[in-house]
Order: sequence, then C-alpha cells, then structure tokens
Amino acid sequence: MDLLRQIAEAGLAPSHAAIIIGLLVVLLVPVILHLILSSTRSSALPSVLLLGPSGSGKTALLTLCERGLSAKEPAQTRTSLIASSVALSVPETGKSSNREHVDASESRAIKFLLVDTPGHPKLRGQAFSRLSGKDTGKARSSASGNAGDENSKVKAIIFMVDAAALGEGGDNTLAATAEYLHDVLLMLQKRHGSSRASRSGSSMSVLVAANKLDLFTALPAALVRASLEAEITRIRKTRSKGLLESGAGADDVGNGDDWLGEFGNEKFTFNQMLDAEVEVDVVGGSVMGDGPGADDWWTWLAEKM
Ligand code: GDP
Repeated sequence: MDLLRQIAEAGLAPSHAAIIIGLLVVLLVPVILHLILSSTRSSALPSVLLLGPSGSGKTALLTLCERGLSAKEPAQTRTSLIASSVALSVPETGKSSNREHVDASESRAIKFLLVDTPGHPKLRGQAFSRLSGKDTGKARSSASGNAGDENSKVKAIIFMVDAAALGEGGDNTLAATAEYLHDVLLMLQKRHGSSRASRSGSSMSVLVAANKLDLFTALPAALVRASLEAEITRIRKTRSKGLLESGAGADDVGNGDDWLGEFGNEKFTFNQMLDAEVEVDVVGGSVMGDGPGADDWWTWLAEKM
C-alpha cells in the first residue's frame, strides 16, 4: 500500500520536468498538425485546362507533352470521354522555349497539370464544372507520382482552335468554335461576378492557341483573333435578340448576366474581358508537321503561371 501511495504522490507532485514536457506537448502538437495538413493541401498541383472543339488538336498536344516537345511524329488520336492529364513544369524565371526548359525535373520550376477535356458538346459539362470548382476529380492522370487533381486550382486555360478549318471558310467550324469560346468566357465573367461578392480571386489567363499553322490553309493568329471576335459579336447579338423576343424586357438584357463583355458596345473584342479580370491572348503554333511548333505557347505559359 505504501509503495502504491508513493508512486501516486510522485506522479502527481509538481515537477519541473513534467511541467515543461506538458507545455511542450500543448504548444507543439497544434503547430505540427497545422504543418502536416497545410503541406498535404498544397501538394495539389495547379492545373491548366485544355479546351476547344473536337479535332482542334488537344489530344495531340497532350500526347506531345507526354512524349517530349521535340517529338514531331503524329500523335495517336483518341476520343476521350473523361479528362486526362499530364504533369509538366515551367521555369519560375519566365521564358521557356524547349523541352529542357519545361522538364519536370527542373528544381526551380512551377509544376502544373495539363488537363485535357472532351471537346464534344455533350461532354463539355466536365470542363465547365472544373472551371466553376464543382469538379468531381475524375481526371485520369498519366503522369507518374503527381498529386491527385481534385483540389487542383485552374490557373490558366488553353483554348485550342483549328486555324486551318477556320481558314477553309467553314462557317460551321467558325460558328461552333466561337460559340464554345463565348460560353467559356461567359462562364468566367459570371464566375468573376459571383466571386466579387464572395471576395475570392477569379482572375484567369486564356490562351487561344491557333493550331495547325503548318498547313497553308491556316489563318494567321491575328486573323483567327479578328474572326473569333466578329463571330462572338454576332452570337452576342443573336442571343440578346432571342432574349428580347422571348419576352424579357430591355432591362433584363441590359443588366442580365448573359451579355459577354462591355454592354452597349456594338463590337466584341477580347480586351473587353479585362473588366472581368480575364486576359485573352491569341498565339499561333502547331503541334505537328513543319510549322512554328509549340514554343510560343510554352513561353506564354511560363509567363502566366
Ligand atoms: P482533339 O479532338 O482536339 O483532341 O484533336 P486531336 O488531337 O485528336 O487532333 C485532331 C486531328 O488533327 C488529328 O488527326 C491530328 O493528327 C491533327 N492535328 C493536330 N494538331 C495538328 C497540327 O498542328 N498540324 C496538323 N497538320 N495536324 C494536326
């Protein structure tokens, strides 16, 4: 009995060592837990979303990135039903022009996921939910060891355009491409409106990648820009007319969220998106063939990431 009492007394007696250990545990455990949790959260790489109509060259670009940007042989085309992604990196210092510069092994590099999305109109919901942050994280990752992308924040968008199809005077192609781009930009504009209320950041850089410039029928980047702006001007007008005819008042159209860019301006230009903190650049390039290659797109990415 005596022995038991002695042990209990020793345990309960205020000793300096016990107090110091107790204090250390109380102070350090929350700090250590915070460090562990924040490091797991930041391991989700930012992503660059690859959008654009079917046939514009998204899969070809992704395959090129997987193989290395110097590979010029034709890439295998696949019709994807879900998003797939590849982990890449750009140097922190900016300019990048070849594979060595965007190699994921670089120490001072910004790593990101390039996420391909299905271009088919019926499957575009995946891309839109990713942009609005409602994605369910179904991207199939082809990169080894990268973090899952459920928590990935979309930092930029590459919108691929088949500049050769626009150049062939295919009105359908221009209309379909511009319509898709219009909807993406409108979604970003609405997202900016709602995030202003919630004070969360919503700025976005969009690269309209005028692809297939190796083909002589392709429009140069400046003409791709002008054609898309003109077509979006037309789409904007048609849609607001549709709204008015459906019984919505002029005020509804004026204040409505469905008008892209500066309201009241006859002509849409990509610069009007700056009000919604959306910066749009149109840059030419080619994934395959004997063209300018993808270097300028990488330079753009290095600057924006
Ligand atoms: P996606 O539907 O957007 O994924 O388009 P794909 O990557 O499947 O490409 C559609 C077609 O365009 C394929 O036959 C590619 O080989 C071809 N293609 C892609 N990029 C280029 C390019 O830069 N130049 C040429 N000439 N063809 C390309």
